[in-house]
Amino acid sequence: MIEPGRTIGIVGGGQLGRMLAMAGAQLGYRTHIYDPHERPCAADVAAEFTRAAFDDRAALDRFATSCDVVTYEFENLAVEPLAGIGDKLRPGTRSLSVAQDRAAEKSFIESAGSRVAPWRAVASLAEVEAAVAALGCPLVLKTRRYGYDGKGQAWIRWPEQAAEAWAAIGEQPAVAEKGMNFDAEFSIIIARGVHGDTAIFPAPRNDHREGILRTSTVPAGPAIASLVPAASAMAGAIADALGHVGVLTVEYFACADGPVVNEIAPRVHNSGHWTIEGAATSQFEQHIRAICGLPLGSTALRGPGATMENLIGPDADRWPELVSEPGASVHLYGKGEARPGRKMGHVTRVG
Ligand code: ADP
Ligand code: MG
Repeated sequence: MIEPGRTIGIVGGGQLGRMLAMAGAQLGYRTHIYDPHERPCAADVAAEFTRAAFDDRAALDRFATSCDVVTYEFENLAVEPLAGIGDKLRPGTRSLSVAQDRAAEKSFIESAGSRVAPWRAVASLAEVEAAVAALGCPLVLKTRRYGYDGKGQAWIRWPEQAAEAWAAIGEQPAVAEKGMNFDAEFSIIIARGVHGDTAIFPAPRNDHREGILRTSTVPAGPAIASLVPAASAMAGAIADALGHVGVLTVEYFACADGPVVNEIAPRVHNSGHWTIEGAATSQFEQHIRAICGLPLGSTALRGPGATMENLIGPDADRWPELVSEPGASVHLYGKGEARPGRKMGHVTRVG
C-alpha cells in the first residue's frame, strides 16, 4: 500500500492531472507533475513539476525514482520510454498501448467479448474504398492515433467521398468504422484495484456537439438503464483482460439491439466529472485509491442525480453568472487562453 504522505507522479499536466492532484492532496498525498509545457494547469496545484519531453527516457527515469507510484492522465504517450518505470506505473503500459491505437483497441475489445461497430484497418485509398464497399455508408474514418474531441475524423456519406475523407484525415493509418444508429451515448466508469476488485459509478448519459462532450447526466434514463448491466459486464471483462489498475472509462452507443463499445480511455474521463459533487467518492479520488492500493470508495449517488456541463472556449466567460447561480459548482482549470474548442472548465448541478 502506498500510504498518505507519499508522492504520486502524474504524466500529463492538463485538467485531469489537476483534478487528480487535488483529490490526492485531500488524502494527504504529494503529487509531482511531468509535462513538456512551460506552465501546465496541473502544476499549479502540485508539490513538484518536471518539465521534460514525454519521450525523454532519462528525465522520466529520474521523475519515476522520485515518486512512489506513477500514473498518466493522457494516452498519447510513447509507450517504450514509460516501460522502464515497471510496476510503479499504474495502469501499466498494456492499457496505454491498447487505448492509443484505435485498431489495437477494437481488436482487443472484440477479443474481450464485447461488440464494436463493424470496422476495418485502412492504410491507403484503395483500402478505404474496399472498406466502403464492404461496410457500406455512412462510414467514419478515424486516424489510428492522436484523435480526441472529434479531431482526426472524417465521414463518408456517399462512396464518392472516400478520397476527400482520406485526404481530410491526412492520409494516415486509420480505422474505417460503420456509422451507427443509436438512441444515445453513455459511459461506464470502472475502477479496478491492485487485487482485481472493481467498482462502477452510475452510468452517465453523454451528449456531444461537434464531436465534443457537452453534458453528462445521471441518472441516464430508462433506455440506458436497461443496457447498463450488459455494458458493465463488458467493462469489467475489458478491465480484467487489460490487468488494469486505476479508473478505466468505456464509451458506448445505446443501440436498439444492445450496447456497442465506441472507445475506451485508460483514465478518468470528462463524463465522470459530475462525481466530484454527485457521488460519494469522486472518480479522481477513486483513481488515487486504486493506484495506491487503498480500498475503493463507494460509487453511490449523493442525491437524486447530477448534470455536468462543459465550458468550452468562450463558454468560460460566463463564470461571473455561474458563480452567482445557487447550487452550481463551478470548476475553472486555469488554462489561460480560451481558444475555440478548448476545455476551460465545467459546471455541475446536483439534484
Ligand atoms: P474522440 O476520441 O474524439 O472522443 P470518438 O470515437 O468517441 O472520438 O468520436 C466522437 C463522437 O463522434 C462520438 O462520441 C459519437 O458522437 C460520434 N461517433 C464516433 N463514431 C461513430 C460511429 N461509428 N457512428 C456514429 N457516431 C459516431
Ligand atoms: Mg470519445
